[in-house]
Formats: sequence, structure tokens, C-alpha cells
Amino acid sequence: MRNYRYRGYLIDLDGTLFRGKEVIPEGLQFIEKLEERGLSYLYLTNNSSRRPEQVAEKLRGFGYPAHPEQVVTSSAATARTLVESFGRPPSVYPIGEEGLVCALEGAGCRIVTDRPDAVVVGIDRTFSYDKMKTAVLAIRAGARYFGTNGDLVLPTEEGLLPGSGSLCTAVAVASGVKPTLIGKPEKPIVDMALKRLGLPPEETVIVGDNLATDIQAGVNTGIDTLLVFTGVTTPKEHAGADISATYTLDSLKDWDFI
Ligand SMILES: [Mg+2]
Repeated sequence: MRNYRYRGYLIDLDGTLFRGKEVIPEGLQFIEKLEERGLSYLYLTNNSSRRPEQVAEKLRGFGYPAHPEQVVTSSAATARTLVESFGRPPSVYPIGEEGLVCALEGAGCRIVTDRPDAVVVGIDRTFSYDKMKTAVLAIRAGARYFGTNGDLVLPTEEGLLPGSGSLCTAVAVASGVKPTLIGKPEKPIVDMALKRLGLPPEETVIVGDNLATDIQAGVNTGIDTLLVFTGVTTPKEHAGADISATYTLDSLKDWDFI
């Protein structure tokens, strides 16, 4: 095999490989070329609502080769971080959807409402005053507070909807405690992906469309980044920002695998 500077790719999903319900064809070619070259890659998503199996299924629906083990979600990284920071699977009160609850249970965490060791907040489309109250009282009684990811809004066809970060903020304001965040641009999700990839950071590149999450994740972890302008960040925004990607491309078809 040729010597490649980057042997591992951590690849964002929405805006990079597809847009909503539409595949980005250059993304398909990109993954095909990674496969041909025998390079390693993982799919890295802040979406905490789905299980890795469901994310892989969605990717396969677009034509991407994807196994659940290739998908790192913010929920999986949160569960791993919890077990590591407590030194055992803690009891948890989660505000979140199936993806979060499954990840926590899969890591051995007990789901409780009374006196949890930790509170975890992720996107929850049935968020309510009662859930917020349970979380806030638990944090005020000493539970440690984690958030799957800090994305304040979610771009959708309807417009920008409240994201995990907005729910985390509500609980933070009412409890007086800021959460430890796990998803991009924070380090824990990247650490988990690197570990699974089995490669050092200098041989890895983060690929994504979002300066504030994907590219900032690279800046925070010392990993090179490839920003593709098929999603949220525009060339103008990148040019005016105080961080910059290692590489920028209009389309992934223009990447020569260095
Ligand atoms: Mg994206």
C-alpha cells in the first residue's frame, strides 16, 4: 500500500455525505475511494437520538457501506465517558430518546429517576417541565451533569429547531450547573473515535461541513481538518472566522488522498 499521510478519516454525516433526505453523490465517490485505498474511516455524528444500527441503516439507504461499529454517536461517547469518569457504570437519569437510553443501558448504566449518580441531557422531542424538574432536582442534590452535545439548533426543512444544547441550557440555568459536553467539538467523542480507529491523531483527519463543530473539534484535539462547503458553513464564513480548517473544498470529489 502507498504511504498515506492520513490513514484514518472521521467523517460527519449531514451536510457532508447527505443533505436531509438527499444523498451527496460526491460523498459516495469519496467513501468508495477510501475503500479502494484500504484507508480506515468512521462516521461521527452528534445526533444522540438514534442507535448506531439505525444510523448505519440510514447510510446504507443512501448507498454508503456502513456497519454499526463504524458509527460513533454522541450517545455512545457519553455512555463511555460516564463509565470512565465514575470508574463503573453509574445510575443515570436521562432526558433523551432511544439512542441515548440504549447507549447508556448497553454500557451497563442503570436508568433511575430517584437519586441518580448522573443526569444526561440529549435531544428529546418529548422534553417536558416534569423531566426538567427531575433533572434539576437531581443535579441540585449532587448528581453530575452531562450533555450529549451542545448544538443549540438543528437545521431542518421546517427551519432551525431547538437542539440538544438548548435543552442542556434550560437545565443548566435552572440547576446552576453547566454540563460536561461530549459531542463535537468536544474532545470525548473524538477520543472514542480515535481509539476505535486505532490510529494516532497525526494520521487522522476530520471531515465535515460545520466550522463550529467539525473543524473546532479538530482544533480542540490537534487533528487536521477538511471542511467541505456542501453544508452549513460558507466559504465567506470560513474566511472571516478566527479558526480555520487545514483544507477546504467545494466538493469531496476534489480531494486527492494525501
Ligand atoms: Mg454536518
